[in-house]
Amino acid sequence: MPVGMISHYRCGEHDMGEHHPENGKRLTAISDQLIRSGLDYVIRQFDANPIEKSLISLAHTQEYIDYVFDNAPNEGDENFSVGEDSVMNSKTLTSILLSAGAAIDAVDLVMNNTLSSAFCATRPPGHHAEHNKGMGFCFFNNVAIAAAYAKEKYKLKRVAIVDFDVHHGNGTEDIVRNFFPKADSTSDSGYLFCSSYQYPFYPFDIQESNTPPIINTPLAATTKGEDFRKAITENWLPALNKFKPEMIFISAGFDAHIEDDMSHVSLTESDYRWITDELKAIAEEHSQGRIVSLLEGGYCLSALGRSVVAHINGLIGN
Ligand SMILES: [Zn+2]
Repeated sequence: MPVGMISHYRCGEHDMGEHHPENGKRLTAISDQLIRSGLDYVIRQFDANPIEKSLISLAHTQEYIDYVFDNAPNEGDENFSVGEDSVMNSKTLTSILLSAGAAIDAVDLVMNNTLSSAFCATRPPGHHAEHNKGMGFCFFNNVAIAAAYAKEKYKLKRVAIVDFDVHHGNGTEDIVRNFFPKADSTSDSGYLFCSSYQYPFYPFDIQESNTPPIINTPLAATTKGEDFRKAITENWLPALNKFKPEMIFISAGFDAHIEDDMSHVSLTESDYRWITDELKAIAEEHSQGRIVSLLEGGYCLSALGRSVVAHINGLIGN
C-alpha cells in the first residue's frame, strides 16, 4: 500500500499578517522539496475535503465552534483575533476546515486500506487549540478531532497521539484530560498522549506527568539529537508498547530543528527520520502499520522541507 499526502492549495491562503512565521510559504516549501527529492512520484496525493461542522464537536464545545464560525471575517472585513496569536482573515475559515478535513480524510484512507499511512501537509496547525479556546497559531485541534473520529467511526479502542513539535501540545492534553469521555482515559483503553517539548518555553504552564494517559517529556534548551533520542526511548517507547495502540497519530512539528529560530533545541532531519522509524516499528507491531501524521510547527522553510521529506521517507521505509 502506498503512503499518501493530503493537502489543499487553499490552506496556503490563511494569513496572519506580514512577516508572520506561520504562513503559506511553509506549504510551498514542503511541496518544492518533495518534487526535488522525487518523492512526489512515490506518494499518492489527495486534495483535502472540508470537515463537516458537526465533527468538530468531537474535540470542541459547541459554544467555541460557533464563536469561530460567527466571527470569521468576510472579504473586506477586519481580521478577527480568536485568541492569543490566532488571527483570522477572510480566508482563514476555509483553511481551518480543510486542515481539519484533511485529517479526517487521512483516517478514512488509512482505515479503508487505500493508504498504509498518511501525512497531512496543511495549515493552520492545531495542537495548541484547547477544547474551548484557540491560541498559538491554532484554531481547532486537528489531531484530537481525527483521533476521536477514528475511535468513534471505526470503533478503535486504543489510539495514541504523539507530538514531537518543540512546543508542548497543551491543546491536545487539555482535550484528552478534560473533554474526551472519562471512560476513554483508563490505562487499557482510550487515549495515550506523548508530547516532547523545550521547557521552560511556550506555552509555559505545563504539568509534569509520566503516567498514562499523558506522557510529558520536557527537553532542556541545550538538547541535541542524542539527548532527544534517549528521552524518547526512555519515556515514549515503553509506554507506547505497553498501550498497544490500534492507530498512531503524529503531531509532526519540525520547529526543534537546529536551523529553526523558533526554539533552541538542535535536532536535524536524521532525528526526525529516527523517530519516524521508531513509531513505524510500533505501528507495525501493534497498529497494522496505521499512522496518520499532521503538520504542526516548523518555520525555517528549507529545514521544514527537508525534515518533511525525511519523515515521509520514514513512513515509506525507504
Ligand atoms: Zn511549535
